[in-house]
Amino acid sequence: MISYFCKMLFKDIIGQTTAKSNLIKQVRDNRISHAQLICGQEGWGGLALALAYAQYIGCENKKDNDSCGTCSSCIKYNKFAHPDLHFVYPVATNKKVSSAPVSEHYIDEWRAFFSQQKYFTLQQWFECIQIENKQGNISVNESQEIIKKLNLKSYEGNYKIVIIWYPEKMNVAAANKLLKNLEEPSDKTLFLLVAQNTDALLKTILSRTQLIKLHRIAEQDLVQYLTTVYSLSIDQSKKIAQQCDGDMIKLVEMLDQEKAEDSNTDLFKNWMRLCFKFKGGELVNFAEEIASLGREKQKQFLNYAQYMIRQCMLLNYQTNSLLRISAEEADFIKNFAPFIHEKNILQLTEELNTANFHIERNANPKILFMDLSIKVNALLSIKSQ
Ligand SMILES: [Zn+2]
Repeated sequence: MISYFCKMLFKDIIGQTTAKSNLIKQVRDNRISHAQLICGQEGWGGLALALAYAQYIGCENKKDNDSCGTCSSCIKYNKFAHPDLHFVYPVATNKKVSSAPVSEHYIDEWRAFFSQQKYFTLQQWFECIQIENKQGNISVNESQEIIKKLNLKSYEGNYKIVIIWYPEKMNVAAANKLLKNLEEPSDKTLFLLVAQNTDALLKTILSRTQLIKLHRIAEQDLVQYLTTVYSLSIDQSKKIAQQCDGDMIKLVEMLDQEKAEDSNTDLFKNWMRLCFKFKGGELVNFAEEIASLGREKQKQFLNYAQYMIRQCMLLNYQTNSLLRISAEEADFIKNFAPFIHEKNILQLTEELNTANFHIERNANPKILFMDLSIKVNALLSIKSQ
C-alpha cells in the first residue's frame, strides 16, 4: 500500500477560530453531536477542519486545544489510514472505473490529492480523477457502502467517523437511504457533512444535523500565514490578503500568478539584454529555453512582454499614476523605457501580437523566437529623434 503523510491538526488550519473552539468544546464536554454539518466556501477550510476534528476525537493524548500528533491514533490519521475514518465524496466513472462508481474506488487518488493540499475545489477533484465532462455525484450505492461500513465493529472501540464532502451532490435516493442512520445512529458513530451551501441540501438532512457555520478567513490570519509560511513582507501579505476575500483557494491562485509574473520578469529582462547584445549563440540558447516552456507559458510570456512595453510608453509620457508594477519591474523599466518610443512602439506591439498568433497555431517556437529576436533587435536600434 502506498503511504501518504498529511498533517491536519487544528493549528494547521488557518483562521476559523470560533468553529474550532466550538468543536473542541464539544469533545471536552463529552457532548459530541452525532451528525454535524460544517458549512462554508471551499476555500474556507471545512474539509480540513472536519478531518482535524475527527483526529482530535480519536487522539489518545488530547491537549487543551489540539491533538497530540504523536499517539498511535494520530499517526494513523497522519497517514490517512485510520480504520475508523471513512470518506465519502462525489465521483463518476472514468477510464478505470466503468460502472457503479463509489468513493472506495478512488480512495488512493483521494489520499494522494488531499495530502497535497488542504484546500481544493470540487472541480479540481474531478480533474484529478479524470471524469471529463461527467457530473460527479454521491449515489445510492454509496449510501449502501456507508451503512455496510458502519455495521462493522469499530477498531479498539473508537468512534466510527464518516466525513461526507459535498452532501449537495447526494441524490434523493442516496440521501433517503442515509437518513435513518443520521436520525438514529448506532452508538459511537459520527457523521460530519462538509457543504458549501445549505440551500442545496434536502430539508430532511438539514433538520437532522447540527450546523457549524464557517466564515471567510480573517485578514490578520492570512497575513500571519503569508509572512510566516511564505516569508512575504507585511505589505505584500496585506495586499494579497485583501484581494483574496478570506479564501485560501483564491490566495493560492494569487501566489501562483505572482510567481509566474516573477519568472516572466527575469525572462523578459534577460531577453531584452540579449536583443541589445545580439550574440547569435546566446540568442539560440534563449530560444531553446523558451521553446522548452510549452505553449501556454510562451503565450503568457509574449503577453507579459507587451505589458512591459506599454508600461515603458506610459512612463515616457509620465502618466505615473497608471503604472501598476513591482519594484523589480520599475527598476528595469527606468533604464529600458528610453528605447521605446513612437517610432517603434507600434511595430514592436504588432510583432509580439503576430508571434502570439503563430504560437497558438503551433509554429515552431525555437524558430519563432529567433526570428522575433532579430526583429526586436532592429526595432530597438531605431533612434527616437
Ligand atoms: Zn494524538
